Amino acid sequence: MDDLRYQVDLLSAMNQRLTNDEKMYRLICDTSSNAFLYVNFVKNEVRTLANWNFFFPDVEIRHMKDLAKLYSQVEDKYVLPLRDLLFLEKTEMNVDSGIVKLNDGRTWVECESAILYDESGSATDKVIRFKDISKFKNQNDELTYMAYYDVLTGLYSRNYFVRLLSDFVRKAEEENGIIAVMFVDIDDFRKINDGLGIIVGDEIVQQFGQFLAGFQGENVLVSHFNADIYCIAIYEPSGNRSVEHIFKMIHERIKEPFALSTGQELSLTVSAGVAEYPEAAKNTLDLINCAEIVMFKAKNQGKDSIQYFDAPILNEFLQNVSIETKLKEAVFSQNFVMNFQPQYYVNGKKLRGVEALIRWRDNDGKMISPALFIPIAEKNGTIVPIGTWVIEESIKCFAAWKKTYDCHFILSLNISAIQYMRDEFIDNILNIIKKYDVNPEELELEITESVLIENFKEITEKMCILREYGIRISLDDFGTGYSSLSYLKGLPIDTLKVDKSFIDTSITDENTRIITESIIIMAKRLGFETVAEGVETEEQFEYLNKIGCDCIQGYLLGKPMPKEDIEQLLNQI
Ligand code: C2E
Ligand code: CA
Ligand code: CA
Repeated sequence: MDDLRYQVDLLSAMNQRLTNDEKMYRLICDTSSNAFLYVNFVKNEVRTLANWNFFFPDVEIRHMKDLAKLYSQVEDKYVLPLRDLLFLEKTEMNVDSGIVKLNDGRTWVECESAILYDESGSATDKVIRFKDISKFKNQNDELTYMAYYDVLTGLYSRNYFVRLLSDFVRKAEEENGIIAVMFVDIDDFRKINDGLGIIVGDEIVQQFGQFLAGFQGENVLVSHFNADIYCIAIYEPSGNRSVEHIFKMIHERIKEPFALSTGQELSLTVSAGVAEYPEAAKNTLDLINCAEIVMFKAKNQGKDSIQYFDAPILNEFLQNVSIETKLKEAVFSQNFVMNFQPQYYVNGKKLRGVEALIRWRDNDGKMISPALFIPIAEKNGTIVPIGTWVIEESIKCFAAWKKTYDCHFILSLNISAIQYMRDEFIDNILNIIKKYDVNPEELELEITESVLIENFKEITEKMCILREYGIRISLDDFGTGYSSLSYLKGLPIDTLKVDKSFIDTSITDENTRIITESIIIMAKRLGFETVAEGVETEEQFEYLNKIGCDCIQGYLLGKPMPKEDIEQLLNQI
């Protein structure tokens, strides 16, 4: 009897547990926001559970044969995968899954099935879970689009373009084809952005991009690379230069202004650089790099043009890159030294002063010319610490000479525009003058005339302040740039340095002679001292003497030399 009661208690306890479990599973099911389909193969039974009505409100499934009703709920191409999921009793794994799109056109459903088997391996039960993944799928599609296309222009994104270009390269290898890669960059885009705002900038990028999209085709890839830069790749199986044709069409288009949504019209020019496979490079990234380098060359050569790759361009670029890297190290290791070149009065050949000229010995012991590295230092900003070093080092030498040798002469320092324009420039130089206790009237700053073009008012104001402290100002390389004799009038300078190119040709060329003589006469009339640069021969010296030039600097009377040699020279005075 006890035994029976025990069995009954046990059964009711188990029953209670099953009821609790059932409650729990039902709750899990119902709150999962999924729908479930349960199939019992042994009893040939089907049940729908949880949120079935949310997914398939009009589909009632009571028997196995009803399952086919689900086909009408999905888009046609998903019918077969759905059938497999519903009816297959054996899958490679016990779990199978697939994604179907409902025929409402927007709902994506992930279906996952799990099957149970008996000991003989026959399927007994199957559960299929339906999960709404529309949100995730739409986000994913958007991300995929963004990975392949540029949102602003609809052109290929940079990464996708590189992948497609790699396919071109593989094809060209097999077929001996040619690929032209052309970078196109809108000239002075920064001015558009700064002047008219980035919204207008974006609109231009978009409109021009949409125009370029018209070239897209089986053999032409067009991409928006970055900001105002586009890259076009043209596969040319027959090797004819259709890239020229495309550039011509771009040129035709930009003759007409772009109409902006603000009602304004905007004209633009572009620069382009072309590199071809296999001539310039044999792999995708090198090809892109070469085209980009060539485009920058086109920009440097005055914009609004197309430039084709050739080996010297690459070599020049590589040299600049290596100088640029070494230059950054040199600023820390200070592998610079100062040389000084004497300047003499024509009259009596008495020493007028010395010009400080920087020298750079790189780690391999090679001397790199300032004519090469100063422009690079100006571009990457290292000119600022270099320039400060030049001023301090030269004034230090100069102060030591003044203490040792009792003579009056001038120290000339070359100042870059970037250095000169810094707010702290005047304070810095005054501090160094104070530190080494030199006479400001014996210092001269050489500034090139090209600097004046940039910001005439600000530059001349600074010149006036410097001159109030007694510092002399010299206009360097006069005649090379935008020189116009008319603007010399009223310029707050003390000295005019006539560029070497005039001295070189004055003797032989009548026209140059006329200009040189007018420069000297005009400078004299305005009260400037004149210094002729690069005087190499007696004949040039005599000529300059004859036309009334005040001072001479050049190999004839002294090359740039280390400070010890200047000391010997001062000893002889
Ligand atoms: P620059 O200021 O016009 O300097 C004169 C250049 O002509 C120097 O070249 C000098 O060595 C060279 N030279 C002088 N006399 C003769 C001659 O008779 N014949 C020939 N063929 N050349 C002569 P360097 O030293 O190579 O300097 C080149 C340029 O680099 C300078 O031109 C100047 O613009 C810049 N530079 C040099 N040192 C500095 C510096 O410390 N700071 C800045 N910002 N620029 C510098
Ligand atoms: Ca100079
Ligand atoms: Ca010069």
